[in-house]
Amino acid sequence: MLIAGNWKMFKGVGEAGEFCRALREADLGTVDVVVCPPYVSLAAAVQALSMTEIGVAAQNVHWADDGAFTGEISAPMLRELGVYGTIVGHSERRQFFGETDDTVVKRILAAMEHGLHVIACVGETASEREAGDTESVIRRQVGAIAEGVADTDDLVIAYEPVWAIGTGKTATPEIAQEAHALVKSILDVPVLYGGSVKPDNAAELAAQPDVDGALVGGASLDVKSFATICREASHS
Ligand code: PEP
Repeated sequence: MLIAGNWKMFKGVGEAGEFCRALREADLGTVDVVVCPPYVSLAAAVQALSMTEIGVAAQNVHWADDGAFTGEISAPMLRELGVYGTIVGHSERRQFFGETDDTVVKRILAAMEHGLHVIACVGETASEREAGDTESVIRRQVGAIAEGVADTDDLVIAYEPVWAIGTGKTATPEIAQEAHALVKSILDVPVLYGGSVKPDNAAELAAQPDVDGALVGGASLDVKSFATICREASHS
């Protein structure tokens, strides 16, 4: 069971260090734990969490090792910082920054080539769900990854229905289970659920047979709520 905290564009160096120092003292149960700070705070997090089992991952990575790609960060740069992995294809990247199934695969391949673990995000929007397209969207997004990535040892998929991200509208455990089973039927890797995971719904989501953990946004920004989610998920 893996619980990953996606901080999005929150917590600069000072706050990240403070958070990680508190996290190392917290009771996190028995789950594997990863935090994903913004790029500028990665080094502070790696340093504050050194000699612990808590991993530090980035929120994105470019596919080239270096080059004229203003504003981008490469896998070797992340490795040099001691970063363990990266999120790829988050819906906010797909929605606001032109991420496509194609670029998601390129980023996964580059990350893995340099030994980074990857959490690749998939999930349907509200209008896709309302139109009855959930299955075809998941098949398309996961299918692209299955086709493009041969070695999936260090790959985890996060099923994140876009309508549940930051909205407080969590998928029911049944909806999550159904989507996770579909993902696994296409690509046999661990699947995290993401979308308004909170201390009071973490246990029932984690109890589903095909839910292997959670990608937590808003509730990962507070040490107490993040630690409670970790402990709740540890029970299942
Ligand atoms: C996310 O950003 O991946 C996420 C799931 O956010 P939230 O938990 O806030 O819905």
